[in-house]
Amino acid sequence: SDDRRLSRIASTIRVIHDFPKPGIKFQDITTLLLDPEAFRHTIDMFVERYKDKKISVVAGVEARGFIFGPPISLAIGAKFVPLRKPKKLPGEVIAEEYSLEYGTGIMEMHVGAVHPGERALVIDDLVATGGTLAAAIRLLERVGAEVVECACVIELPELKGRERLNGKPVFVLIEAD
Ligand code: AMP
Repeated sequence: SDDRRLSRIASTIRVIHDFPKPGIKFQDITTLLLDPEAFRHTIDMFVERYKDKKISVVAGVEARGFIFGPPISLAIGAKFVPLRKPKKLPGEVIAEEYSLEYGTGIMEMHVGAVHPGERALVIDDLVATGGTLAAAIRLLERVGAEVVECACVIELPELKGRERLNGKPVFVLIEAD
């Protein structure tokens, strides 16, 4: 059942207090990856949701979107496109700046990877303030793609990240506090 799978997944996520700085409760998905059954359930639950939604591109946010995105893209028959930190992609890129807790980040995507009219799914491990997903959505929409949904393993609902996404739906498996 979904409840059994979700509790297995939730039980494998390790919370590390005061990482990377004081006051942060870091949700560590590397311990989920150590449990093949939980990892399998995570991928399966996303695949079941998206397999019949005519998604042609799964866009994964560096770095943990690179772990969950590719198995989903292969299972639903979509391409995988990495959204990377600056100066990592070798070809021509478009870039979006977004706010971080301290300062700003930049996310880049290869020009030509995604075409107008494509149906995209954005994947990351966690949504906090929503700034990261918002930048990913802007990159995809700039090239004329339709972002069908964003999907994350974990949401921190207190940070109200959904409010930064202009109504774009976010599907999450686990809510953390
Ligand atoms: P945000 O842009 O605020 O929604 O932050 C989301 C991004 O930061 C994701 O790529 C997460 O991997 C990372 N992140 C933010 N807060 C946490 C946290 N408490 N634990 C783990 N990762 C986090």
